[in-house]
Amino acid sequence: MNYKEIVTDYKKNSKLKFCFHSDKTLCSSKIKNAHSIQKEKILSQITSTINKNQVLYSFDSVKSDANFQTMDLVPIGKKKASIFNGFCDYHDSKLFSPIENEDIVFTEEQNFLITYRSFAHSFHQISEIYNYYLSDAEFIKEFPPDYLEAHTRYTEWAIVKLSKYKMILDNLMESQNYSSINYHYRVVEPFVPIAASSILRTKYTYKNKYIYDGENYANIILNVIPDGKRTVILISQFKKDELGKVFFDEFKELSNEQFTHAISSLILFCTENTFFSPKLWDKFSTTDKQRLLEEKNFCTHYGGRLNRFFKSNYDIFKYQ
Ligand SMILES: [Zn+2]
Repeated sequence: MNYKEIVTDYKKNSKLKFCFHSDKTLCSSKIKNAHSIQKEKILSQITSTINKNQVLYSFDSVKSDANFQTMDLVPIGKKKASIFNGFCDYHDSKLFSPIENEDIVFTEEQNFLITYRSFAHSFHQISEIYNYYLSDAEFIKEFPPDYLEAHTRYTEWAIVKLSKYKMILDNLMESQNYSSINYHYRVVEPFVPIAASSILRTKYTYKNKYIYDGENYANIILNVIPDGKRTVILISQFKKDELGKVFFDEFKELSNEQFTHAISSLILFCTENTFFSPKLWDKFSTTDKQRLLEEKNFCTHYGGRLNRFFKSNYDIFKYQ
C-alpha cells in the first residue's frame, strides 16, 4: 500500500466517537466534530487563501514517496484541521466557553481548560491508534503477528498510563481547583502564525537530561496559541509527574532564544497536532523548505534512536 492508501485505511478503520468528560450523565447523544484547536479564534488567524479556499499547513498533511519520505506539504481546509470526535455537543459548548468566548489572559481556569482539551485530543488519538490495531484494516493485515502484538500491547500500556493523568484532570474539573498543574508561558512578539496542541514525547530535555525511566515518558503538554499581535507558548506539567518536573524546571529557566528554539525543535520532533499558515511556510527559501522536510523525515524515521535532544537547524518562531 502506498502512503495515501494507508492514510485512507487508517481514517476508515480507526475512528472512535466518545466524550472525554467523566460525567457521562450530562452528555448529549451527539458527539461533535470538535476542534482541538479553536477554529474561529485560533485557526482563522493562521489560514491563507489558496485557489479561493481557506487553508493551512501541517507536517502531517503531506505528499510522500514510495519510501514514505515526505516530499511536500498538502494544504488542508480550516474546517477539517485539528478535528476530533472527543466531546459531546453539550460538553464541547459548555466546558470551553471561558477560552472560546473570552480573551486569553491565562487565568488558572483558562490554562487548565487549554491543557484539558489538549490532553483529551492526545488521549483520543492514541485510543484511535489502538482501535486501528484491533481492526481488520487492510494495512493491519500486512503486519507480522508478533509485530502487531507488540504494538497493540505498547499502545494499551500507554493508554493505561495516560488514564492516571485523565483521573487527575477529571478530579480537577469536578472540584474546579486547578492547583495540581504547573504552568509556564512565554509570549512571542510579533505574532507568528503557528498553532500546536499536544503531549510532548521526548526522552531528553533541551540540555540533554534523560527523562525516560525505561517505562514512562514525561507528560508535558504543549500549546502554541496565536493571539492577535502575539503568539503564546504554554507548557503544562502535572505536579505528580517527576520526569515532567525535570523538563519543566529546565524550560522555565531557558533564555527566550533557547526556549523558542527548543519548542520549534520539539514541534518537528514529536508534535503531530501542529498547524501553520502558508504565509509562514513561504518565508522559507526552497532550499530551507527542503531541509525542514528532511529534518521532519529524520525525526519520523530515526528520531527514536537519537540519544540526545533533537535540535533543529531552524527556529520557526524567528520567521515572523
Ligand atoms: Zn459529554
